[in-house]
Amino acid sequence: MRFSGCNGAAMRRRLLLAFAFALAARAALASTGTYDVREVSPGKLSIRASLPGGALHIVRGMEPFVSNVRANGKAIRQAGNRWMAPSCDPQCLIEWDFDLVAAAAASRDLELARDLGDAIEAPPGTWLLRGDEEPDRVRLHVTAKGGRTFVSGMPRAGDDYLSREFPRDVYSAFGKLDVMKIDSIDVALIRNGHAIDHDRIRRWVAHAKRSIETYYGGFPVEHVLLLVRIGRGRGIDGGTAIGGGGAAIVIAAGDQTPAAGFDSDWQLTHEMTHLTFPSVARQHHWIEEGIATYVEPVAREQAGLYPAREMWAELEEGLPKGLPEPGDRGLDHTHTWGRTYWGGALFCFLADVQIREQTSNRFGLQDALAAIMRSGGTIDREWELEKALTIGDTATGTHVLVNLYRSMANDAYPVDLPALFRRIDGGDGAIRRGIEGPHSY
Ligand SMILES: [Zn+2]
Repeated sequence: MRFSGCNGAAMRRRLLLAFAFALAARAALASTGTYDVREVSPGKLSIRASLPGGALHIVRGMEPFVSNVRANGKAIRQAGNRWMAPSCDPQCLIEWDFDLVAAAAASRDLELARDLGDAIEAPPGTWLLRGDEEPDRVRLHVTAKGGRTFVSGMPRAGDDYLSREFPRDVYSAFGKLDVMKIDSIDVALIRNGHAIDHDRIRRWVAHAKRSIETYYGGFPVEHVLLLVRIGRGRGIDGGTAIGGGGAAIVIAAGDQTPAAGFDSDWQLTHEMTHLTFPSVARQHHWIEEGIATYVEPVAREQAGLYPAREMWAELEEGLPKGLPEPGDRGLDHTHTWGRTYWGGALFCFLADVQIREQTSNRFGLQDALAAIMRSGGTIDREWELEKALTIGDTATGTHVLVNLYRSMANDAYPVDLPALFRRIDGGDGAIRRGIEGPHSY
């Protein structure tokens, strides 16, 4: 199935907890947790941090991989899933070791730890101890040696990484990596012994980036990690994008993929589209996948990388898969593949047509989505969905997004797709041409 491999932004375990933590953090004074991390041998971390005293903990399930915990040089005791540090003024020097190799062998989950061959991927949230109140900002200084490198989707601050929130989810990796910078994108290749043409990778990334910039009038984030796992064979697969302390994408590519395979790829553009919208609560996951599903072919078409005829054929074939089936409820309640990806895309297509009809084709969905992105609604932020939709509506001077959301969230909302396609060809076909672009901001 075409879109089944993508997890998107909000496929996370933690959303309910995150809101509680965010409220607790806001109540406290702004604080920065500073961590100095050394990879002393492959996959073995030695970490020092300034942290408030008291109970320290790590993400659930990772306790067995923490060892040798000390506060101001003295070993401290573990009590259940916590380590009890004394009270320090103002902060304690906390040191510990973390075994990433063992964590990856136990988890195989990108959101915890996963062995990808020449590198181990694990978000900092997996290996960083913290107090009951997470620091508002986290600064990481990381040293790897022996030809190994650390990469992360956390925002950069000189040689360090500095995130505005605890980097619980953002993909990060230690390993043997080929790192290339393409503007704001750190491309890290995990070659696993395979040969790969770096120029082919550069061109592939540049195409996806250009599609996003064409559609949105700019790139969504100042820094993103793109971790590319090279394997044997042909094709591109297994893309997933995440926020939670930064912005990052993981994707796999085969070493035998021909240049044409990279040039016709849609998956990287799909994942980059996820960067342009805030992370929303799990029941709204359809909006994240719907935007990526609808915008990806249109953005590539507008960038001159996909023929308009094929883009429309794809939408005509795909959109019926998003229609409600007997027994289906609204998009917030029925989470099948069809309703999530193509039901979300149907929401976008309807919104695009209605915005154009109501504004004499002056504005389209892309004006609304670009405004949300420019307002800071990107994958590294957690927003209420209606906040994003309201910003989008303000940009087009309509109420299309909020009204459509209220119609489609709870009820099945059947759509006459043939009639909708006839509507875009009405008059002189201006709406169809408006969607095809070019678009000026
Ligand atoms: Zn996706």
